[in-house]
Amino acid sequence: MKEEIKAYNNVLELIGNTPLIKLNKVTENIEGNFYAKVEAFNPGHSTKDRIALYIIEEAERQGILSPGDTIIETTSGNTGFSIAMVSIIKGYNCILAVSSKSSKDKIDMLRSMGAKVYVCPAHVSADDVAKRLHEETKGSVYINQYFNQLNIDAHYQTTGPEIWEQTNGKITHLVACSGTGGTISGAAKFLKEKNPNIRILGVDAFGSVLKKYHETKEFDSNEIYPYRIEGLGKNLIPTATDFDSIDKFIKVTDEESAHATREIAKKEGLFVGYTSGAVLQAIKQYAEEGEFNKDSNVIAIFPDHGSRYMSKVFSDDWMNEQGFFDSVNAEEAQKIEFIK
Ligand code: PMP
Repeated sequence: MKEEIKAYNNVLELIGNTPLIKLNKVTENIEGNFYAKVEAFNPGHSTKDRIALYIIEEAERQGILSPGDTIIETTSGNTGFSIAMVSIIKGYNCILAVSSKSSKDKIDMLRSMGAKVYVCPAHVSADDVAKRLHEETKGSVYINQYFNQLNIDAHYQTTGPEIWEQTNGKITHLVACSGTGGTISGAAKFLKEKNPNIRILGVDAFGSVLKKYHETKEFDSNEIYPYRIEGLGKNLIPTATDFDSIDKFIKVTDEESAHATREIAKKEGLFVGYTSGAVLQAIKQYAEEGEFNKDSNVIAIFPDHGSRYMSKVFSDDWMNEQGFFDSVNAEEAQKIEFIK
């Protein structure tokens, strides 16, 4: 009998079906059972693989795309990487418009994945460049993740059902960051259809407008100021966020989220990104508000991998520059002095 070779046909077949991993130490003082859905297990190391694949395949189903056509987006982060990866396998060109503030590492990473990167100077909006390129390029798709309903649909079709099946329907709370809002809105929509009592708890950043908008329906530009966590919160209201599906928002600080990110690595052996730390920090704050009890089964979405943050939260120099070692973790800072 011919031996079968067990192999995936290409890297895209590994997108989705990410594991739930029990959190054992970082939540040990909080009542309830906590599990992380670790999206770094996607082949592009983030949750954005799901939307890149879904949106591109939807365009294919609608007959909008043929091989050799072009996918366009404004992003230097996870979404760009995922789109570049999907484009390589499916034979599309990938054009990404990024701001000149993006780090060289990020731009090099996107170029390594075959993307054509337009670096836009500070006075030129990357969104406007992407829109123009889309209009000028025949046979192109503009992903436009903040304003694309398919971003929600991708998570309604994949992330939500996976969580429901993995928990045998026993999930009581979902805690997730909101950036475009696609992850939390899509998963929430599916889970609430199955059980409307599941609490959907959002995470927002200080410096972002989302929490206030959720509570008041008012866009308050006074809420906006610069902050460090990338991918969390926003300075506009994305239509890819279904605010009605979210029960509550909480805001987290850059500093506490940074320490929480490092805590996850050190205590759980899970090397995940800055927004995963934001989610853990939010869980601690939600616990203080009495959200959980011993029967709670809480699913936390950990959106991406720690390797993308080597020059940020996982750099002691960066932490020092931010002043993040000054108060909370003086002991850790001292250790660093000693090593130097
Ligand atoms: N974390 C990271 C690292 C991200 O890149 C994003 C996407 N902006 C999010 C969280 C938030 O996910 P979503 O856009 O689906 O709300």
